[in-house]
Amino acid sequence: MTRRRWIADSWDQSTASLTGEQASHLIRVLRAQAGMEYDIVAGDRVWHGVIAGISGDAVRFNLMAEVEADPALPITLLLSIFKFDRLEWAIEKATELGVERIVPVIARRSEKHLAQSAANRVERWRRIAREAAKQSRRSDIPTIEDVLPLKTAARQNSDAKRLLLAEQERSTTLRHAVEEAIRDAGENMPAIRLAIGPEGGWTAEEEALFGVEGWRSVSLGPRILRAETAAITAAAVVAALME
Ligand code: SAH
Repeated sequence: MTRRRWIADSWDQSTASLTGEQASHLIRVLRAQAGMEYDIVAGDRVWHGVIAGISGDAVRFNLMAEVEADPALPITLLLSIFKFDRLEWAIEKATELGVERIVPVIARRSEKHLAQSAANRVERWRRIAREAAKQSRRSDIPTIEDVLPLKTAARQNSDAKRLLLAEQERSTTLRHAVEEAIRDAGENMPAIRLAIGPEGGWTAEEEALFGVEGWRSVSLGPRILRAETAAITAAAVVAALME
């Protein structure tokens, strides 16, 4: 039986508390009482929690034992800024799929007004990721980085296998590249970074920059997918090969 899971608003090594809308839902809708048991996420770990007390609109739990946490998948998505409603959908789905980190980037063909207001949306994107993590019972919340210029993101040094989702690529499939990375990584799972372009696609200069920085172009097939479809499909392919 999997217990319902809450994300603690505050905690110490033996207790955790919910406040705000989580607490009022637990008190008013679920009629919280001392002794009720739930999973509590506190400090990136999941605990078996037992309600110790309710005061006003705060619920306090005793943390009994740690519950085996399911770690995020070592997948980072570099998402070029595209229409916010679709981008936010992609953030929610990538969170459900277990993606560890999302880096919003400004590509040449990211619409200018979206690029300008992206920085003001990052807190909202972090909230979307937190809610999606809770709903999908993740024990961790994916990191949404601050918005980066594409050049900076493409150059970020990381030991991850860096794969550029390129709609023109015809010879290497994402699946082939990931299977190869998994084989090369031996018993560990390789970290994978996936870069997704904007609605207008990558420019030739951007593809050349990625190439120079050691990114490998990979294909998701002959059809042109919307950016959000490509993001989710790529994350799902990698997740499926890793699980
Ligand atoms: N405007 C472009 C399509 C851009 S799609 C055109 O019409 O050609 C947005 C992004 O999704 C692309 O930059 C790429 O990163 C990804 N993508 C879409 N289809 C893909 C495919 N078949 N293979 C790999 N990546 C793809």
